[in-house]
Formats: sequence, structure tokens, C-alpha cells
Amino acid sequence: MYPSVIDNYVRPKSVDEAIAAIVDGGEDAMFIAGGMSLMQAIKSRLVSPSCLVDLQDVSEIKGISSDDTGLRIGAMTRYREMANADKLRGAYGALVDAAAHVGDRQVRNRGTIGGSLCWNYIAACTPAACLGIGASVELVSRTGAKRTLVADDFLGSPLETAREDNEILVAVTLPTPEPNTGSAYKKWGLVADALPVVGVAVLVQTDAAGICLRARVAFSGLGDGPCRSAAAEQVLIGARADETSKIGEAFEAAAAELEVQADMWADEDYRRLLMRELGKEVTATAFNRAETGS
Ligand SMILES: Cc1cc2nc3c(=O)[nH]c(=O)nc-3n(C[C@H](O)[C@H](O)[C@H](O)COP(=O)(O)OP(=O)(O)OC[C@H]3O[C@@H](n4cnc5c(N)ncnc54)[C@H](O)[C@@H]3O)c2cc1C
Repeated sequence: MYPSVIDNYVRPKSVDEAIAAIVDGGEDAMFIAGGMSLMQAIKSRLVSPSCLVDLQDVSEIKGISSDDTGLRIGAMTRYREMANADKLRGAYGALVDAAAHVGDRQVRNRGTIGGSLCWNYIAACTPAACLGIGASVELVSRTGAKRTLVADDFLGSPLETAREDNEILVAVTLPTPEPNTGSAYKKWGLVADALPVVGVAVLVQTDAAGICLRARVAFSGLGDGPCRSAAAEQVLIGARADETSKIGEAFEAAAAELEVQADMWADEDYRRLLMRELGKEVTATAFNRAETGS
């Protein structure tokens, strides 16, 4: 289907210009990043923006940098760059895993972390990975005011976030990781190059003996959108990588705790099976990364 008429297309060069353009564009103006989700939504007339503010020339929100406090990933950083980012490996390897397996090569060359988080599609990988690794997002409003939200507060139900109209997401931030921290993400879908049925992100921080001190467990593909399992996190604390029955118990607890839906891709039992099996595999990888740092 052809999109309805888009009256205006603007290509700002800075965040300030982008904010000015979205305000000038009126109520129906929308930002466009990689266009991987938005163009489909426009073509199917799920949304009908009168003005598109294209962020592809806003260089100040591109790329991955680090300082004493941690890592900063610009909102316009594309999956391809995250998939190859050595800075993210180990503690934040979940984001590398997610980015490396999003869609196909074309999608990874275009899609951005900011677009994925702002769209917050039910089965999207990046929101669950960001939730799993404890990321935060930085937003700038039309008045220029900045605010930072943890992913838990930013991400809502599918297609909903705490972003206000005209607010631009400028960056995703991650604290300098504690020693012996590792994370991993894995998805399973009916088609390898597409959105998953279920995805699991796990972060563990261990002591020098390999005992888990802190855990975060997040899922994609569940009906309520990206979510954490407090029950699984609780069981993982105190576990070691070789305690496979305890790790299995953690994902039994997640499957019992979280609301699971049936749809045309999978019934409830199959989704729970994926949560358990992917969970165990991803946790083993996260422990390994915590130990080896890579
Ligand atoms: C064939 C195909 C396969 C895919 N497979 C997967 C997959 O396996 N896993 C997965 O997770 N995803 C998958 N996707 C979705 C993909 O990840 C999208 O790239 C992503 O959801 C949107 O990112 P984008 O940069 O393209 O954003 P866009 O589509 O340009 O924008 C999405 C939304 O975010 C808003 N937005 C964008 N940037 C900002 C910003 N900085 N501030 C405020 N608002 C902003 C836009 O206004 C729009 O509402 C797939 C998509 C396709 C087409």
C-alpha cells in the first residue's frame, strides 16, 4: 500500500535543529531513524505523519564512546556498529549478541538502537537486551531539558514508552561494569532473519570464586513487552556456572512467574519451553563471559 501524503521532509544536522523541526512540523510530525519499523508502519497506514524529521545527518548522536563513568551509545548508532563493538564485549555482550542477529544484513545496516527502543516492538531484541544489562536512556525535550531514565522505567507495554511527544532519545548509557560481569542474549524465531518468538538476556556478576552476586534476567516476545523476571534473578544469586539444576530452577521460576501468550507463532507451552531452554544456554554464556571477560 502507498503511504498517505507526507507534506514535509526535514534533514537536520544537530539535536537542536531536530527538536526545532519536530516542533515546527506540528502534531503529526515524527522522527525517522533507520526507517526499518517506521516505513512499514507508514505504508500500512498504522501511522500517517505529515512531516518526517530524518535523523541520519545528526552526527552528535552517532557512535559508541567511553569515559570514567561508563559507555555512551548514540541513539543513531546502527546495529552493524554495535555488533562489532569490542567495547561492549564481556559485561555488555548481550547487546552485541542482539545487534548481531537482528533481521538481515540490510536491517542491521540501517536500524538503530534509538529507533528500536522508541518503537519498542513486542518481540524486539534491543529493548530486552537493554533491560537485561541495566541500560539507561537520555532524552531531550522541546525546551532543551534533559532527563535520564533507566530502561525499566522507559520501556512500557509493546509500542509504548515513557518518551513524551517531541522528546528525542539522544543516547543509551551503561555504567562502567563491575569486575567479573558478563551478559548474553539469544533469540529463537521461526525465521532466522526476523523478529523472534522469544529472546532472553542475562547478566551475571560473580565474586572471584565464580559465585553469582548479582543477576538480571529479561525476556522479549512476551505479551506485556520486554520484562524482567525477579523470581529467576533471585534464584541465580548464589549460583555457580556448574550448578545446572539451580540455573534450570531459575528459568522454571521465570516461566511460572511471567504472563505468557499464545499466538499464531507459538502456544503458551512452547513459549515457556523456549524461556527455559534459551535461559539456561544464555546464562552459561553470561557466566563464561564474567569469568573470561570476552
Ligand atoms: C525484515 C526485518 C527484520 C527485523 N528483524 C528484527 C529482529 O530480529 N530483531 C529486532 O529486534 N528487530 C527486528 N526488526 C526491527 C528493527 O530492529 C528496526 O530497525 C527497529 O525496530 C527500528 O529502528 P529504526 O532505526 O529503523 O527506527 P525507525 O523505524 O526509523 O523508527 C522507529 C520509531 O522510533 C522513533 N524514533 C527513532 N529514533 C528516535 C529518536 N532518536 N528519538 C525519538 N524517537 C525516535 C520513530 O519516530 C519511530 O516511531 C526487523 C525489521 C525488519 C524490516
